[in-house]
Amino acid sequence: MARAAVLEEYGRLVLRSFPVPDPGPEEALLRVELAGVCGTDPKVFHGQLCQAELPIILGHEILGRIEAIGEAAAERTGVGVGDRVTVEASVGCGACALCRRGAPRFCRRVIDYGVRISAARPPHLLGAFAEYLFLLPHTSMHKIPDDLPARGAVMLNAVLSNGIQWVKLQGGARPGDAVVIQGAGQQALACTIAAKECGAAPIVVCGLRRDAERLALAREFGADATVIAEEENLAGLVADLTHGEGADLVVEVTGDPAALAAALHLLRPQGTLVHAGVTGDGVLTQLPLDVVLFKELRIQGVFSKGSEAILAAIDLLASRRYAVERMISRVYPLAEAETAVRAAGNELPDFYPIKVAVDPWL
Ligand SMILES: [Zn+2]
Ligand SMILES: [Zn+2]
Repeated sequence: MARAAVLEEYGRLVLRSFPVPDPGPEEALLRVELAGVCGTDPKVFHGQLCQAELPIILGHEILGRIEAIGEAAAERTGVGVGDRVTVEASVGCGACALCRRGAPRFCRRVIDYGVRISAARPPHLLGAFAEYLFLLPHTSMHKIPDDLPARGAVMLNAVLSNGIQWVKLQGGARPGDAVVIQGAGQQALACTIAAKECGAAPIVVCGLRRDAERLALAREFGADATVIAEEENLAGLVADLTHGEGADLVVEVTGDPAALAAALHLLRPQGTLVHAGVTGDGVLTQLPLDVVLFKELRIQGVFSKGSEAILAAIDLLASRRYAVERMISRVYPLAEAETAVRAAGNELPDFYPIKVAVDPWL
């Protein structure tokens, strides 16, 4: 039997035990080492992002070790029993054009461990807030070295890889580019690291007054300047640092419509805005679209990443150039998974974590 933190009704996680299934030829079983928690989890927890029938086992940022694997799955993935892996949460059908193009996140039949799949029926164990996770056919996983710290490795798949995808692969940051990152959470910090890796300079990270600790970490990760939005003039600083030309790339991670609009004014002509912060609908009417036209700006939407970014993130973590693990503010045992989710949703008094995680063996 394996223990799991289960969402049986919205707003409450309970511990349940499930039989551990034997994987078939195309399947595998993962012994979960650590599961990351992000802003998606509180949304699912409160029923704001419900795309699967309850109960759901939460947990979609997955680090673990292969406990058992079917022959076909081992051949397809190159992964064997005992290997430590990061698992991609999105599993496509494996057959449609988008899946074959390496973008299963757009597959019409996609499921996401811990988010868009029910635990109602066998094999039940389909979320990472559990001792074991059942891996369905077509699951993508990547081997990672045993000696990488778990607190860093748990961020490969959903944090560090997003930074690389958004800033480098889709943002196109190049050496010497002036990059502005609006936001100071885990994704913004990952974008800071990615911008530094691209050789961007200057890198400016803008947060709020409560983000002092995060902004300090941003400077350690390579930000040349940080700005507190309520107190300082971001536009003035960007103008000074770029001799009035404007930023080459602005990555908007906050989802604040006003910040999104302001980002357009920070850019130089033909600059790029990477739009990564979920705003909710209706915001477009507030965007100064003529600025986009007259400056010939490019707006690139992003919401996830592909395998190329994950592989690059593994190399980056293995280089040990950044103490990524310092982003983990606290690790919770499985019995406190609900507290972990509430922490990620900033629902706990006096606790404003950058990122938390769940260790099912703690
Ligand atoms: Zn996540
Ligand atoms: Zn597909």
